[in-house]
Amino acid sequence: MLNIRYELTRNKKTKPDYNSLGFGQYFTDHMFLMDYTEGKGWHDARIVPYGPLSLDPASAVFHYAQEMFEGLKAYKTADGSIQLFRPDKNIERMNRTNERMCIPKIDPADALEAIRAIVETDADWVPDEEGKSLYIRPFIIATDPKLGVHPSHTYLFAIILSPVGAYYASGINPVKIYIEREYVRAVRGGTGFAKVGGNYAASLKGQEKAESMGYAQVLWLDGVEHKYIDEVGAMNVFFVIDGEVITPALDEGSILPGVTRASAIELLRSWGVKVTERRLAVDEVLAAAESGRLNEAFGTGTAAVISPIGELNDEGVKHIINKGEIGPVAKRLYDTLTGIQWGSVRDDFGWTVKVK
Ligand SMILES: *Cc1c(COP(=O)(O)O)cnc(C)c1O
Repeated sequence: MLNIRYELTRNKKTKPDYNSLGFGQYFTDHMFLMDYTEGKGWHDARIVPYGPLSLDPASAVFHYAQEMFEGLKAYKTADGSIQLFRPDKNIERMNRTNERMCIPKIDPADALEAIRAIVETDADWVPDEEGKSLYIRPFIIATDPKLGVHPSHTYLFAIILSPVGAYYASGINPVKIYIEREYVRAVRGGTGFAKVGGNYAASLKGQEKAESMGYAQVLWLDGVEHKYIDEVGAMNVFFVIDGEVITPALDEGSILPGVTRASAIELLRSWGVKVTERRLAVDEVLAAAESGRLNEAFGTGTAAVISPIGELNDEGVKHIINKGEIGPVAKRLYDTLTGIQWGSVRDDFGWTVKVK
């Protein structure tokens, strides 16, 4: 039990236009905060008005990037209740990231209580329409006001909330992807499997390069041989070759273990579709595209759920996938996952957790 202290605002914000929310642009009335002090553990759980944090400029996070984050959503169902999708998976991953980053772990029950409490507090911000949701961003930063590279002795855990629009305002449009053969986002032994800002900082250059050429995202290859597929942008990636679904295995440690990825694999297997997790060379995928055996490609992640890939650009050579349209596997996964999340498809897996 956290014993959360509530300090509620008397100046509630005017809600933005829910038809043009975009992603991560608006934030709710409150935030959850909790401190960590060595010897004392996590303490002072509180829900306070949303606003700027005051931090010493020497805080460790600013200099050595000791921090982590998570991302999940709250959905409003047709009967007006609010539910989360597999929050236990995010909390498990949060503590795996903490372990890698030398950040103290948070009791999983406390983390869930914190998420539920802040979502309940700002429940009036959860959008009503299917497709729109409340994005939940928990994060932890190292706050020791000291230069010198070593794990911090003090931390701040925060949760902020942002109402977000339907990812696909006008139907699902497959995206164009640029195969990045120069820059990498993560390496074996590094922090690829952990959800940390540093991985994103390292990815900006490749992402900027792809965008400048008119591509939505980058296909990341492994950091050692620049040969095997890791991820697509900030999503896990799947290919359908000759009817078999293939996704890179997690055992190299350079791939983020997505909750959407795990859910897609479980769903596909429950439908009797063959799913293989293994090393997958980019040249194998391109050869399959050349010979017409690459049926579909798509990314998976909380924000977009399923993002079909319509084109792969390999150093100027364009490979069009499934005529640039969404394929049946991606479509069925999208419809089922979003249906479970918004409560219009029965949740046979026990994935949803009711907030209120
Ligand atoms: C968060 C994230 C994903 C997707 O994970 P989900 O749990 O499905 O949202 C994939 N790749 C990276 C690099 C990520 O940060």
